[in-house]
Amino acid sequence: MSERSRGLGRDLCGRVHAVTGAECYLPDTHYPRPHHALSGESWHDGLCTLCAGSGLHTSTLCPRCNGTAFEPVDPDTYLPG
Ligand SMILES: [Zn+2]
Ligand SMILES: [Zn+2]
Repeated sequence: MSERSRGLGRDLCGRVHAVTGAECYLPDTHYPRPHHALSGESWHDGLCTLCAGSGLHTSTLCPRCNGTAFEPVDPDTYLPG
C-alpha cells in the first residue's frame, strides 16, 4: 500500500474510527465501500445510535462514538436508515 499525502483541495472522507481513532484517507466518494485507513484498517460505520449523531450524551462526550457521531457497525447486520 502506498502512502499518500493528504490531497489539499480534494475532498477526503476523513472519517475517524470511533474506537481506534484511525482516519479514513479515501475520497469522500468511496461510499458504499468501507472506510479505509493508512494502517490498513477498514470499517463500516453508521450514525451513532446512542447520541443520534450529536457526539454528546447527557452533556458529556458520547461514550459510544467518542464524539465522532458515528459508531462502527457490522455491515452484515447494519440496516441503513
Ligand atoms: Zn471513509
Ligand atoms: Zn454517539
